[in-house]
Amino acid sequence: SVLIEVNHLIKHFPAGKNKMLRAVDDISFHIHKGETLGLVGESGCGKSTVGRTLLQLYTPDGGEIIFDGQKLKSGASAAVRREHTRKMQMIFQDPYSSLNARMTVMEIISEGIIVHRPDLSKEERRRRVFELLDLVGLSPKHVNRYPHEFSGGQRQRIGIARALAVEPQFIVADEPIAALDVSIQAQIVNLLKQLQREKQLTYLFIAHDLSMVKYISDRIAVMYLGQLIELVDSEELYRRPLHPYTEALLSAIPIPDPRLEHARERIVLQGDVPNPVHPPSGCRFHTRCPKAMDICRMVPPQFTEAAPDHYVRCHLYESKEVIA
Ligand code: SF4
Ligand code: MG
Repeated sequence: SVLIEVNHLIKHFPAGKNKMLRAVDDISFHIHKGETLGLVGESGCGKSTVGRTLLQLYTPDGGEIIFDGQKLKSGASAAVRREHTRKMQMIFQDPYSSLNARMTVMEIISEGIIVHRPDLSKEERRRRVFELLDLVGLSPKHVNRYPHEFSGGQRQRIGIARALAVEPQFIVADEPIAALDVSIQAQIVNLLKQLQREKQLTYLFIAHDLSMVKYISDRIAVMYLGQLIELVDSEELYRRPLHPYTEALLSAIPIPDPRLEHARERIVLQGDVPNPVHPPSGCRFHTRCPKAMDICRMVPPQFTEAAPDHYVRCHLYESKEVIA
């Protein structure tokens, strides 16, 4: 069943006189209970804004978010909002700046428990913190230490324990491994997968490239300039990307499987991501697309189901059925 449903979400930020930064521009998707949806795109495409808007850190300018059957409203009562913030937690990219340097591990992890479980005694809370440390693979010895005494991977484990402390159902992991050494990235991804199984968690896993998301995501959504441009089962995305932007992102990662090499010639995109204050006319990708046609400059493509459960926003697939 569906845990979170997002319909026509819009989030714009003022960007000077009469100008709007269209960070999230009419995005719709859903995530099933226990599923991981990967959300991938270059920096500045709006993916973090999607995550933060889902967690109500930003108020949407349009569209709706339905969580566990309940529409999230900005005017909801404090009690309702508190319950939603408990159920929806975030793991941040930077395990350095996201932990308060002046607090011990005990204090960091206890904070949310104090707010959301005022019924627990101090002793019960301590026990809970020890359980959480164990869950994320840290020793109870660490409990009175400060963030700077830990490695990047350990700090990310503390961040995960803090998120889990309030027993959430849904976690937005915003590039949780991007700041870590490659050798540590797989450990954190494996930890997140293991915790998902044990706790029936649902994830939105945000990443700026396609190299690691495959290992954690059931489906992947690719974002470009505030819009989704492709959304499909993760195996299928790697096997048969449809959108030219996805093809370019995939071509940038080394693939160990030689059978796939013919499809993996490096596609180097021209230019930078255009300014989201003035997105290009027609298809927003046309200024960089190696396959752009005349129509692409004029007419915005629709997000269409080109093959079963395979959505793409590109004129190449609008008129013809893609054979599954
Ligand atoms: Fe490229 Fe045109 Fe497709 Fe946009 S609509 S991705 S410009 S082919
Ligand atoms: Mg970001």
